[in-house]
Amino acid sequence: MAFRASVLTLYPEMFPGHLGFSLAGKAMERGQWSLDAVQIRDFATDKHRTVDDTPAGGGAGMVLKPDVLARAIDSASQDDARPRLLMSPRGRPLTQQRVRELAAGDGVIIVCGRFEGVDQRVIEARGLEEVSIGDYVLSGGEPAALVLLDAIIRILPGVMGNDLSGLHESFEGGLLEHPHYTRPQEWEGRDIPAILTSGNHGAIEKWRHQEALRLTGERRPDLLERAGASAQKS
Ligand code: SAH
Repeated sequence: MAFRASVLTLYPEMFPGHLGFSLAGKAMERGQWSLDAVQIRDFATDKHRTVDDTPAGGGAGMVLKPDVLARAIDSASQDDARPRLLMSPRGRPLTQQRVRELAAGDGVIIVCGRFEGVDQRVIEARGLEEVSIGDYVLSGGEPAALVLLDAIIRILPGVMGNDLSGLHESFEGGLLEHPHYTRPQEWEGRDIPAILTSGNHGAIEKWRHQEALRLTGERRPDLLERAGASAQKS
């Protein structure tokens, strides 16, 4: 069964956005994944189609109403067990590992917050998993949902032209990726490292792994600590 994404948003026109282009767009045309952008406002019941209200306890901004959002979630999740995610700066930071787990499933239901956020009770009552794409604040969950979906879709089976190209990438082995080079052999006085044009595949693999270790150590020692034993073994 193809991967199904349902996105609950006040701006359905923002979807599929960039996911309608390139490999993701072609995969969508081939039916390898689908996206249903649901307008949360369609689940408001009053004449003004209100989706937000002032924060209890006072303060700036508005909060998405639990009743309206719950109806939207319930309509999207009828008889299916897809994980229900809420894009949120308070969420667990997104990792390649979580992306892989989500890509292995049937799909996702993603709620995009707006304003100050959503009523806490709907997060609890509908078991929403809060997911953050980084320690900064966006004005809405839509770009975050597009980031999450991008990361998932590119690793769905058959989406990337060459399925092997995912294997050595940053984070896949707990390390950042080695540097890349392509022709011309010499450019602005800089040469491609000789080993890469040596034809010695064993030596090339070794060089790439060393470079990955070096870059990760310099830039992301936290990743190196986590990768720990496994990186030393290989
Ligand atoms: N008042 C909130 C921020 C709300 S930003 C706070 O300080 O925590 C409005 C919406 O943008 C959020 O509900 C969420 O859906 C989305 N958003 C903002 N930053 C995000 C991030 N880093 N990751 C994922 N979603 C984010």
